[in-house]
Amino acid sequence: MLNDANHRRGLMLVLSSPSGAGKTTLSRRLMETDPDVTMSVSATTRPRRQGEVEGKDYFFVSSSMFTGMVQSGAFLEHALVFDNQYGTPKEPVMLALAKGRDVLFDIDWQGTQQLRQQAGDDLVSIFVLPPSHDELERRLRVRAQDAEDVVAQRMAKASSEISHWAEYDYVVINDNLDTTLVNIRTILAAERMKRRRQTGIPAFVSQILR
Ligand code: 5GP
Repeated sequence: MLNDANHRRGLMLVLSSPSGAGKTTLSRRLMETDPDVTMSVSATTRPRRQGEVEGKDYFFVSSSMFTGMVQSGAFLEHALVFDNQYGTPKEPVMLALAKGRDVLFDIDWQGTQQLRQQAGDDLVSIFVLPPSHDELERRLRVRAQDAEDVVAQRMAKASSEISHWAEYDYVVINDNLDTTLVNIRTILAAERMKRRRQTGIPAFVSQILR
């Protein structure tokens, strides 16, 4: 009874930000603490960084493999970001949503636009801003996983990514990780309770009124 009343449509939660705003850590923390959230694992042509795990962080594929996936319609969305291709495999997302799970996407503004066209109201988008210009630069440097020229390139591109903040449903400033996490969880909790997502409520209400 309670389970039926709690039945709801899964939602697609997008987190976008420039590199260095803390989005990857936020995604990981959200995943660890919310069993109803599944992370979408993207395919990319970018080389694997130290510590990254195939199939967990990304599916690392060749350019020709990526093109083949595009041609066969395997992606929900795909985009060229920092000279590398990135795409969201469609099938795992559809399976997770069908099971009523929410899917978290760590994708850029181009991918978010494409997902919004396809998913409409099922999409909830959050833009994560760094607390300041200096802090963004510091985080990019501390990370230091990329070559220095790549860091410089990303810093230059951060302003172009940030220029898309107003296309998002929500904006959070990631000054403090714990506070930002609470804010994101609050957004998710409210979105889950939206009437149109609570598909179990009509039957529940008829039970009450019987
Ligand atoms: P990174 O190479 O640092 O992991 O990611 C670079 C950028 O690509 C990030 O802004 C990230 O959100 C974006 N990105 C990762 N996966 C995808 C994807 O599947 N689609 C799109 N459009 N962007 C992605």
